[in-house]
Amino acid sequence: MNEIVVISGKGGTGKTSLLASFAALAGNVVLADCDVDAADLHLLLAPTVKRREEFRCGREAVIVQEVCIRCGACLARCRFGAVLRVRGGDGTPVPTVSCKDCDFCVRSCPVKAIDFIQAMKDTCVSVDEAMFVIDPTACEGCGVCVHACPAQAIAFPERVSGEWLVSDTRYGPMVHARLEPGGENSGKLVSQVRTVARELAKERQADWILADGPPGVGCPVIASVSGVNLVVVVTEPTVSGAHDLGRVLELTRHFGIPAAVCVNKWDINPEMTERIEAAATVAGASLAGRVRYDRTVTAAQVEGKTVVEVATAGAGIGADIRAVWERVRATLATPRVEAVEVRS
Ligand code: SF4
Ligand code: SF4
Repeated sequence: MNEIVVISGKGGTGKTSLLASFAALAGNVVLADCDVDAADLHLLLAPTVKRREEFRCGREAVIVQEVCIRCGACLARCRFGAVLRVRGGDGTPVPTVSCKDCDFCVRSCPVKAIDFIQAMKDTCVSVDEAMFVIDPTACEGCGVCVHACPAQAIAFPERVSGEWLVSDTRYGPMVHARLEPGGENSGKLVSQVRTVARELAKERQADWILADGPPGVGCPVIASVSGVNLVVVVTEPTVSGAHDLGRVLELTRHFGIPAAVCVNKWDINPEMTERIEAAATVAGASLAGRVRYDRTVTAAQVEGKTVVEVATAGAGIGADIRAVWERVRATLATPRVEAVEVRS
């Protein structure tokens, strides 16, 4: 069984379209969408969800109002501004102190801004009226407030950061995921997606695991490429495409993972394509081939199909993608340096 991940230095280079076409050509395959921050493989493969599991990662603080004595220690300690003092009735944020109506400000204000002072006083609430809550989007789960609370009024449950799913597609099972907005640890979620995909592939004796990786060179990318047989890097013939490709190849070289480069829309700048391919060869990558610019890609996306399903077989972009797939297979068949497993 071979595991291939398709990545790119930046988003929008066409890696998902290429991966979906690989899925159509591969045969006995298990698919993994490792681009958990912006998953879109499902748009082309119309999956039917068979299994859905919560992804829990990290913790978040939650104040138990019945136990809270409203001392404000949590608000004073939180370095992330996640603790809010709010009006009891409607939850409107209010100043962190209560006005005691001593009128010191009224007496000492040099410009006698009485209206402004009154407006400020109006936003204040009494100690009895105020309560403390934690903004879950701002809480970093550091746990400082939990230790600081004299009343043990802060619960610290695991945070649900997203979910992972196993679905059926017309080409085989697909493992994919969804991260909550602002959810963290996408690298860990990628590892989870890959683990489940590997189990499925073993169970079904699949020939291929094909993964749609995230763009860039961050933690989710490292989690996607570690231990795979081949990384296919999709790039475009532009200055930024060449620059981003350099960073990706530096990453794959650092971890000793074989890489093959595919230039998408190569015909929009043939000269840049030549330069990119030369640089990729110098960097130790093999060349997976070129795919021309073709409106069929957009037509396929609109129809929710893969490019090879829509394109004319044996000609044009359909032939380009088939040639890239054959080159990828041939690259895997040639002897290579073993990939290094990297744990995220
Ligand atoms: S867990 Fe940390 S970040 Fe979250 S509210 Fe408490 S102190 Fe603030
Ligand atoms: S430290 Fe504890 S008791 Fe004090 S306001 Fe915060 S949650 Fe309430």
